[in-house]
Amino acid sequence: MLVQVAEGVHRVSGGVTNFYLISEGGKYTVVDAGTPADWALLESSLRELGSVPQDLDAVLLTHAHVDHIGFAEQARADVGAQVWIHQADADAVRTGKRGWKNERSNFAYVLRAEFWRTAISLSRRGATKMIPIKEVSSFADGEVIEVPGSPRAIHTPGHTPGSAAISVEKRTALMTGDAMCTWNAYTGRVGPQIMPSALNMNNAEAIASLDKLGEVKADVILPGHGDPWTEGVAEAVRRAKAAGTS
Ligand SMILES: [Zn+2]
Ligand SMILES: [Zn+2]
Repeated sequence: MLVQVAEGVHRVSGGVTNFYLISEGGKYTVVDAGTPADWALLESSLRELGSVPQDLDAVLLTHAHVDHIGFAEQARADVGAQVWIHQADADAVRTGKRGWKNERSNFAYVLRAEFWRTAISLSRRGATKMIPIKEVSSFADGEVIEVPGSPRAIHTPGHTPGSAAISVEKRTALMTGDAMCTWNAYTGRVGPQIMPSALNMNNAEAIASLDKLGEVKADVILPGHGDPWTEGVAEAVRRAKAAGTS
């Protein structure tokens, strides 16, 4: 599924995770790398846009989770795209090993149908364990990254240590990764919210990071999971705080 969500920004989604193509001057940055099976979807999406996979210059990862780094190593090795992630998550993607514990275990969700739908979708699409990325560049909080679209990174820790949102000011779009989603992959709840506790390193930090998102000006919020949100950043933050943990 390829849908334009802002001027020069497309949403691509083949399963439970979204990733986003930012185009500028015929070159592309992709924000997040879906699952390994999403590489074929990325290639077909670029062709649909009249481009070729070699036009992909950069892969910006919002965090080191298996459903967001899927084709990053393939993009690096096959078409020479430069892969970026916040410095605090860089070791995890280099080694393929997460160095932290989450708030809660998956066991708490085994009676939820949505949990199983998500698990089965990720497994079918090859997202069962992280594929290490051999060369990664890292960005810091507030950095404007010199790749197509000139996106700015906002460090929003809590989901993971180096969880980051990506603001594309020219396109008034804010990609929140898993700092804020609009669909809960474990419970099915719809609307702005933080991720389920079993996927968050620290819920309190994730909630505190919502205030950093609240400072960003954007007409559209583009989350890692769920549909775009167009009712304003302040309202999204308010609703996510009201929703609390899950
Ligand atoms: Zn995640
Ligand atoms: Zn995710």
